[in-house]
Amino acid sequence: MKITVFGSGYVGLVTGACLADVGNQVMCMDVDQSKIDKLKQGIIPIYEPGLEDMVKENMAAGRLHFTTDVKEAVDFGLFQFVAVGTPPDEDGSADLKYVLAVAKSIAEHMTDYKIIVDKSTVPVGTADKVKQAVLDVLATRGETQEFDVVSNPEFLKEGSALDDFMKPDRIIIGTDNPRTAELLKALYAPFNRSRERVITMDIRSAELTKYAANAMLATKISFMNELANLAERLGADIENVRHGIGSDSRIGYSFIYPGCGYGGSCFPKDVKALERTAKEMGYHAELLSAVENVNDRQKHRLFEKISAHYPDGVKGKTFAIWGLAFKPNTDDMREAPSRVLLEALIAAGASVQVYDPEAMHETQRIYGDKAGLMYCDMQADALQNADALIIVTEWKQFRSPDFEQLSRQLKDKVIFDGRNMYEPKFVKQAGLQYYAIGR
Ligand code: NAD
Repeated sequence: MKITVFGSGYVGLVTGACLADVGNQVMCMDVDQSKIDKLKQGIIPIYEPGLEDMVKENMAAGRLHFTTDVKEAVDFGLFQFVAVGTPPDEDGSADLKYVLAVAKSIAEHMTDYKIIVDKSTVPVGTADKVKQAVLDVLATRGETQEFDVVSNPEFLKEGSALDDFMKPDRIIIGTDNPRTAELLKALYAPFNRSRERVITMDIRSAELTKYAANAMLATKISFMNELANLAERLGADIENVRHGIGSDSRIGYSFIYPGCGYGGSCFPKDVKALERTAKEMGYHAELLSAVENVNDRQKHRLFEKISAHYPDGVKGKTFAIWGLAFKPNTDDMREAPSRVLLEALIAAGASVQVYDPEAMHETQRIYGDKAGLMYCDMQADALQNADALIIVTEWKQFRSPDFEQLSRQLKDKVIFDGRNMYEPKFVKQAGLQYYAIGR
């Protein structure tokens, strides 16, 4: 089949590469010329395990193409995937300007039937807006082309995006046209072999399903963080509590890790956008506001713990920070808790020496040569002359450090762990003070 994908970011590039990998012809279109130039040379602008090889292989096989030319992109595919960003507007609602810009581009150039497949996370009712935007442009062109708009939200996780796309838990197809549903099912058949994963439904429910999933996951995290803060005050250990409740199959172990808050490009903005949608409907979504507030507060917890440890202030102190990306196996720094922390430390007069296995470029892009911030090439470099160590992202390589050596190296012999990576007993045995979350 022939597919066009608008937007070559995390979702668009993975979608394009995976669809090409099963034998389709795919054209990836992006407005970012430098991104497309790099992709044409096989340089991947983001870090996602396995993606570089997959892109290169499919380009070499002649199945994956890149362009900035809108007409070429629209002419190419029967399926026109929309995978552009939907960042939060000033009021928290999802900004649809990129999605609607793509809709207009498609309408300006389409000369035959197209299926517009929305993969971006968009509020309920967006498919109607896309449809109207296309109709308006067609009207000004004096054309009447047949087209369909489908909601096909994406559930991949950064860090395991290829696997998630290739073996999805479910494939949601929101459409009111049975024939289009069949075409989408045929497109997804290679990813739907071992068991039935396709769930078809009406468009509005499909749009809401994506927000419901992210809001539920964010709720689990905020719930655990709320309990962690309570456990600290009660002298309980949230890690024991986590094991205790996770064993209940109705609750389960996933997404109940306490920590220093969730970040990334999805949970924060999607919770906000759903809350905003509720407000527009005249409904106050109390739980969603609480989920967001708890998370905002949680992002400050590490700094609060550090401030409490240093009653005279952190001015003049040097902190090593391990982990900057909002989660392991990605270089994504959007809404990362590390940003709140390092900005607070620097504002309070401390210096930070930061290391992340993949997010150094992104951190440098964001902060440049900010005073008080030192970029380190190696995990060990961050510890040079540091007073204390802070862990913000639970990368695998941070799991088992030499605590004896850390104890010798850290001037103040203290670790602040925002991800509960260590057994407190071991850390303390090495003569280190250890602050974690909820224990
Ligand atoms: P991204 O910022 O990584 O990529 C978006 C791309 O779209 C950019 O390269 C940008 O240049 C391009 N773009 C903007 N306007 C364009 C246009 N008119 N034509 C072509 N390209 C254009 O975004 P992302 O993380 O891939 O997210 C895309 C959407 O998918 C969002 O709605 C997001 O909420 C959703 N989503 C993201 C994830 C994730 O883990 N990142 C997972 C599921 C869903």
